[in-house]
Amino acid sequence: MIKNRVAAARAFLQRFDVDAILFSDIKDVRYLSGFSGSEGVLLLGDTEVFLFTDSRYTTQAAKEASGCTIIECSNKTAEIASRIVSFGSCNLGFQAENITVAFYEELHRSLPEVRLVSVGTETGSLRSVKDCSEIETLAKAAAIASESFEDILSMIRPGISEKDVALQLEITLRAKGADGKSFDFIVASGERGALPHGRASEKLLSSGELVTVDFGATFDGYASDETVTIAVGEVNARQREVYQIVKDAHDMAIEAVRPGVALKHLDALARDYISKKGFGDFFRHGLGHGVGLDVHEKPVVSFRSEGEVVAGMVFTIEPGIYMPGWGGVRIEDTVCVTSNGCSLLTKVSKELIVL
Ligand code: ZN
Ligand code: ZN
Repeated sequence: MIKNRVAAARAFLQRFDVDAILFSDIKDVRYLSGFSGSEGVLLLGDTEVFLFTDSRYTTQAAKEASGCTIIECSNKTAEIASRIVSFGSCNLGFQAENITVAFYEELHRSLPEVRLVSVGTETGSLRSVKDCSEIETLAKAAAIASESFEDILSMIRPGISEKDVALQLEITLRAKGADGKSFDFIVASGERGALPHGRASEKLLSSGELVTVDFGATFDGYASDETVTIAVGEVNARQREVYQIVKDAHDMAIEAVRPGVALKHLDALARDYISKKGFGDFFRHGLGHGVGLDVHEKPVVSFRSEGEVVAGMVFTIEPGIYMPGWGGVRIEDTVCVTSNGCSLLTKVSKELIVL
């Protein structure tokens, strides 16, 4: 499994014409080595893989990352530099998005002969197609989060605060075996629903409000992501209408997911439908994103996406309508692409739940 990943990563050596690549995105380090610590960089060469970490992690790294040569370091740059010199590299790839300017300058100073080449965000695509064990873990994370949400529905009522909803949800998913939450939950009620990223506040829920809850669990390093918009008490015809438009856009996009379809086509399906219904100005973000070791990773599912859907991809479909002064609706599921369509990893029903 790890071997296949490393082999795929080595293709980037040729693609960028470099002798080695320094992976400093800690999730990539985990993906390519199995090391789950929070500090480490990985140097991938043609035949060798070095994992540099500090003394807190060397025992763990030796156990988890058996395919790597583990280098314990107190001065990371010096250790990295000496290895690079030892295998004669003169072109070194690095992840521009994941190193500080200070580290870059240090590398440059320590390796004046080495040409530093940015591999941009390209390496992010390594993780976009999941293997069986990743899909199993992602499904577990999503199932824990969905069950936890269903469990706390009974405590959601007028008078409780958005923060209480978030807290109960977090406690429940931890009790069900999650490592933790995959991000700070969004609980946005009433007019706050117009904030696509409205973190849970002290605001109390009122009857007649729509409440958007965006939540996820992490399990064994993998994240989940799901959004449910619920009605607290009876809601009016306009609220139901907006809900149904978002729901139809969501269903339409999910139905179209299959290998070979352009990612931007999925975005266009949902966006064109919402626009046709007159709400195009109120859907301002992309349709979805990959979910894996990071809650937001490749592929991006938006009007800018270049690629196409591939079996084994796991990504969200999350259209929304957000109207300042009125509120909002977002409906999000995480799908796993199969050979002829997709399955839903997230499990809460997206029919409007009226509490
Ligand atoms: Zn989400
Ligand atoms: Zn999302």
